[in-house]
Amino acid sequence: MLIGVPKEIKNHEYRVGMTPESALDAVHRGHQVLVETNAGDGIGATDDDYRAVGATVVATPAEVFAKADMIIKVKEPQAHERKMLREGQILYTYLHLAPDPEQTKDLIASGAICIAYETVTDAQGGLPLLKPMSQVAGRMSIQAGAHALEKVNGGRGVLIGGVPGVGAAKVLVLGGGVVGFNAAQMAVGMFANVTVLDRSPMVVERLATHFESRARILYSTRAILADHVANADLIIGAVLVPGAAAPKLVTRDMLKTMNRGAVLVDVAIDQGGCFETSRPTTHDNPIFVEENIVHYCVANMPGAVARTSTYALNNVTLPHALAIADKGWKQALKDDPFLRDGLNIWNGKVTCEPVARELGYDY
Ligand code: NAD
Repeated sequence: MLIGVPKEIKNHEYRVGMTPESALDAVHRGHQVLVETNAGDGIGATDDDYRAVGATVVATPAEVFAKADMIIKVKEPQAHERKMLREGQILYTYLHLAPDPEQTKDLIASGAICIAYETVTDAQGGLPLLKPMSQVAGRMSIQAGAHALEKVNGGRGVLIGGVPGVGAAKVLVLGGGVVGFNAAQMAVGMFANVTVLDRSPMVVERLATHFESRARILYSTRAILADHVANADLIIGAVLVPGAAAPKLVTRDMLKTMNRGAVLVDVAIDQGGCFETSRPTTHDNPIFVEENIVHYCVANMPGAVARTSTYALNNVTLPHALAIADKGWKQALKDDPFLRDGLNIWNGKVTCEPVARELGYDY
């Protein structure tokens, strides 16, 4: 199969659909890989790196889209890219169609077979192609928070791990799922004083077993939440209620009880945020101060560590990409019901039930 890898064109997107190492695996199995020039710039992969593994580098996205049987990307195709898709071509990327009727309409019209990373499932009922980005965001939330705690950024001037003789920062993690677990791991590793709150007894038990005495894992009640918020130096917002906006766990009034210069990192900002005072920010200007509390609310945290994020993403997308390339998309989806869950658009129809329901298409 001829696999095409265009350069990402969405604002501030530095990841790439295939690393040179992934391209090598595809070439090794007899496939051809066509990469747009400079596609790997954001992760430090040069055109020569791709050529060295047997890929062909072309000058324009138009050549990639015109020739490839399957396009592998990271972000949803932008309007200009959607016009280049053609009937029967496979598009394998993040799509996030539910809130995007325009894109859905264009993809249906293109006749392409659209497989979305975010709806591919696994045997545990998880979303394995989303998980690595939550891992990245969770781990990154502590370094973002540590930076914001520095005085020059408006923070309390507290070092996460303290030093011998001076106490460590109190880090409170709201939600102990993928983001929260990874945040807690980093905070524990930096010798912080870590507490995680969750509403799921199963999650509480799993984390308590994992962290033992290195972190306090508590069932979240209003009283526990209020008490810990008031004393925290750094709070990581990592809650998710699937299919719903994030609950506003920390209200404006609660900020008044907090230490001046404490920091809130709202990882859940992509679902509206779990702090009442959050509003989305960008990597260019990630923090703002409200009620004397520093807020970091970047909606696309993994973008800042494009190299790590791309490799983490490729680890989970490549096996499916190779299956599609080896067997053809129909057979690959027939053999793997979890990959089948990723099919969002085919044959002029929306083939993913939640997307169809959300946008009013027949399913
Ligand atoms: P997850 O489902 O693995 O974990 C969410 C956890 O929140 C669960 O353990 C759940 O029990 C807990 N929870 C729900 N309501 C709660 C409440 N009221 N109090 C305490 N805990 C509660 O989800 P995840 O993968 O960790 O993702 C968390 C959020 O981070 C999502 O909104 C996700 O979209 C977002 N995210 C953002 C970025 C970014 O760049 N900003 C990147 C990746 C993920």
